[in-house]
Amino acid sequence: MDTKLSRRAAVAAAASAAIASGAASKPAALGGAPVRTSPFPTWPVWETTDETEWMRVLRSGKWYRGSGKAVDAFEQKFAEAMGSPHCLAVANGTSALMVALHGLDVQPGDEVLVPPYTFIATINAVLSKSALPVFVDTDARTFQMDTSKLESRVTDRTVAAIPVDMAGAPPDLDTAVAAGRQLGIKILEDAAQAHLGEWRGRKLGTITGAGTFSFQASKNLNSGEGGAILSSDGAFIERCYAFHTNSSPRRGSTPAPAQGGNFRLTEFQATLLVSQMTRLEAQAKRRDANATYLARRFTEIGGVTPAALTDGCTRSAWHLFMFRYSAADFAGLPRDKFLKAMAAEGIPCSSGYTPLNKQAFLKNVLAGRGYQRLFSGKRLQQWHEQNHCPVNDKLCTEAAWFTQNLLLGTRNDMDQIVAAVEKIKNHAKELAR
Ligand SMILES: *Cc1c(COP(=O)(O)O)cnc(C)c1O
Repeated sequence: MDTKLSRRAAVAAAASAAIASGAASKPAALGGAPVRTSPFPTWPVWETTDETEWMRVLRSGKWYRGSGKAVDAFEQKFAEAMGSPHCLAVANGTSALMVALHGLDVQPGDEVLVPPYTFIATINAVLSKSALPVFVDTDARTFQMDTSKLESRVTDRTVAAIPVDMAGAPPDLDTAVAAGRQLGIKILEDAAQAHLGEWRGRKLGTITGAGTFSFQASKNLNSGEGGAILSSDGAFIERCYAFHTNSSPRRGSTPAPAQGGNFRLTEFQATLLVSQMTRLEAQAKRRDANATYLARRFTEIGGVTPAALTDGCTRSAWHLFMFRYSAADFAGLPRDKFLKAMAAEGIPCSSGYTPLNKQAFLKNVLAGRGYQRLFSGKRLQQWHEQNHCPVNDKLCTEAAWFTQNLLLGTRNDMDQIVAAVEKIKNHAKELAR
């Protein structure tokens, strides 16, 4: 062995010895040394190519899709990478949902089935159409919408459902697609977190006929802000196209004239997305390897149960690493104290979403003049009476997350996460005091 290699091996051995003894030492929250002091990989990442492309657009003076070619080029590249016949780029993930709901002809007074465990934008997009979001409970094992319950929440006004690929992994999309067919409702897949994730070998966002993405700064593919709609239905995409650029159809296409807005992506964002896409697959592979390893180690520890992947998920995009924390397995240590103890060890860990269906913004919107006109008093009262998602309520008290940038770290970084959890578990009684 050459000296350089053996020195490296010695450093690695010392590091793993430190990790092993770290699990036995005092938690940082009780004054011990933290498991790690160095930061996790930062997000976003960029290289010289991104700068060159950005400057090329700047110097061309062609900054919007009407004058340049970058948005067209990105749409083509993204469609190709996702195996989708059509792609429309838009300003962000929220407007992708809004534009797609227009394309699906969701109108004021309609009802749309949604999960309570998602980012608020999924719900806001429905409200922006003056439609009523109706919540379908979560599957606690997967953290995903329980699509077997879609039918139970349907009324004669239900026109669509929005299953979300939470954390980059799908709910049961076979069941969602079958329910859509059987109930005669459209299924819009919110794949905002799911770039390169797969359902039965096909890319998420292409499974239900219409899918949307976000390229907001935190997302696995990002341009600060940005979004896209994928579909195999060309006529749907043409309706979306006209809507996204103030009722102006694409040359040669003839959707029925309709309302619109401005939801266009800029040339700058598009060119950045094209260069970011060159790294997407490698980043996705790294996240997948780290998350798969972390899931195995967490399962061995016990009391930190990773979100299961739905049968049929052939690849997760791992936008988040989600798990259920069981205080009972940690000597009763409450979740917020566990999260604080993790932070003290140098590992940022979030409690995730709170129950969306119970938030004040919804009550206020539904109490407003518009909804009072669009829906009968009887229907709104029934909505309130039925607006219960007990599985989700419980999940929200137990959930914890790591964000995707942690998963871009090394195997040693993952071992440190494991060591921190083990250390906290070993000292849970003292921490709970
Ligand atoms: C991020 C996100 C959105 C919204 O995307 P923006 O680009 O931030 O508007 C919608 N749905 C989900 C599930 C998201 O995670």
